[in-house]
Amino acid sequence: MEGFQLDRQGDQQILRYLFPPAFGGFSATLYLRGALMEQIDASESVKELLSPELPLVMPLQVHGTDILMADLACSLPERREADGVAISRTANVAVALQFADCWPVILGTSTPEPKFLLLHCGFKGAVSHFVTKALSWACKEWGVEGKGIWAWLGPGIGPCCYARSATGDPWTKRAFESFPSKAVNRLSEKSVNFDIAGAIKAELRQCGLVENRIFALGECTSCNNDIFYSYRKGDVGRRMILVAFFT
Ligand SMILES: [Zn+2]
Repeated sequence: MEGFQLDRQGDQQILRYLFPPAFGGFSATLYLRGALMEQIDASESVKELLSPELPLVMPLQVHGTDILMADLACSLPERREADGVAISRTANVAVALQFADCWPVILGTSTPEPKFLLLHCGFKGAVSHFVTKALSWACKEWGVEGKGIWAWLGPGIGPCCYARSATGDPWTKRAFESFPSKAVNRLSEKSVNFDIAGAIKAELRQCGLVENRIFALGECTSCNNDIFYSYRKGDVGRRMILVAFFT
């Protein structure tokens, strides 16, 4: 059954992303708040603890919209700037992305062979239509249409907790123009809440993805700070880490 599964590895809470059988042999795990994550102090320890067998591609995330093709040449210690990483079986590497409130987005196709695109998409990414850019890239690169692509989204910060100053902030101004109106909740003159996942889902639908191929874990990282790391809740130095590879 595709979707999500909360699980544990000892003291470490994890979230497994579940893929349909046609995606066979792809593993994606989000390491949540837990003992293992507390041991991570640098990219070397991510490699050591989470990807001991495969070279690890772990880009420097800059809240941009660039996509990196995962291969040996861009694996650690190399760290290129990107917020999207494409992975296929032939690359023979693992990919790691870090999150604390921003939304993980996993896009995949199964034909002619499983291929995935992993995105780190926060507010700036949603304002910049990162998902639309990524899907346009994927359709071209993979030779498929939107309806042939599946998506897994979450967890990330919810509209309940993502407030910004309504005035004097250029990114807020851009969001007023680019977010669907349903994803904007102006609570007062001074403050506005944004539904980042709502904006991302609107992009997925606009790009032709079919409703029953979109899986969203709506859990808010800030509300559920006991399970997830949340930057806004004060987890400044800790991140959840998504590790994905073909088995
Ligand atoms: Zn919340």
